[in-house]
Amino acid sequence: MAGSHIAIPTILKIGKGALNDLGTYLANAGMHNAVIYFGNGLIDMFGAGVMGSLKEKDIKVLEYRELDTVNINDIIELAFNIDAKAQAIVGIGGGKVIDAAKYASYLRKLPFISIPTSSSSDGFSSASASLIVNGRRTSVPARMAYGIIADTEIIKSAPDRFIYSGIGDMVSKITALYDWLFESSNGYSEMNDFAVMIAKKAVNSFVRTPFETIHDDLFLKELLDSLAMSGVANEIAGGSTPTSGSEHLISHALDKMLEKPQLHGIQVGIATYIMAVVQDHRYVRVNAIFEKTGFWDYVSTLDLKREDFAAAIDMAPSIKPHRHTYLHEQQYRDKAKEVLYNDEVLKKVFD
Ligand SMILES: [Zn+2]
Repeated sequence: MAGSHIAIPTILKIGKGALNDLGTYLANAGMHNAVIYFGNGLIDMFGAGVMGSLKEKDIKVLEYRELDTVNINDIIELAFNIDAKAQAIVGIGGGKVIDAAKYASYLRKLPFISIPTSSSSDGFSSASASLIVNGRRTSVPARMAYGIIADTEIIKSAPDRFIYSGIGDMVSKITALYDWLFESSNGYSEMNDFAVMIAKKAVNSFVRTPFETIHDDLFLKELLDSLAMSGVANEIAGGSTPTSGSEHLISHALDKMLEKPQLHGIQVGIATYIMAVVQDHRYVRVNAIFEKTGFWDYVSTLDLKREDFAAAIDMAPSIKPHRHTYLHEQQYRDKAKEVLYNDEVLKKVFD
């Protein structure tokens, strides 16, 4: 039964300077041979530090390269060329290399060490990977990371849009959970209470964290902790239902429609506000956090089009036809479009 075997990360290090101790964490876990994949351009930035930390603990690096593909065929080829002595696959970077390394680890049944360099989504802690399959971005099954190492100093130095994306992806648990409640009260699925509790605690702890700026150490640590907890909520539920509802369907639809979609959590965040108003649930809180963090100010510079969001709302139910979120009912799609065109807050974003 789904959720009866739950994997949680054995190594969980989130904080200032965590990457410097990579060698220690691997050695303590009994890993002495590793394969390291970096995101595009990241060897220049982190290569020397990472290699130094591994060398200090006598960890042999069997392969060391940058990866810039999420094409499933490339990753299959890559995975089956990995040295048989490898005891761990380490992925360091943004979304793409994390997804690629995660899937290669899954194929080779090797522990995956997830080292996000930005906080743009909960992908670093999720059990699935977003890859290109037959030319289309597709979510494929993989495995929860054995280790998550997130260095808040590095996360902080990434461009702000990645932090905003992480904020949007985190806040989306508010509407996702409400969609799940809606779906289950209409008899379409059953809620897993523990998964609900974890996802709810994750988002609430995050939105209640006091902060001055989005670069505060505590704020970033809370964001990463909460994103990591979201991954565990999905693991417990045996799927993404606790953390991905109607707001994610809008974002997935935009990804399909647009030539140049925005970052995942940026689209998801805007859709979260829209759906929170539709659900008439906690939209004041969603607006407050977007207001205070500067999320709204940032997205208002993006030249987003209402028509795109309206079309995405219409397409949303077809993205996951087996689900029954608010957007799977015509009356709520109509309401969502009404909010999109008439809501006062959104006027700042779209006009
Ligand atoms: Zn997401």
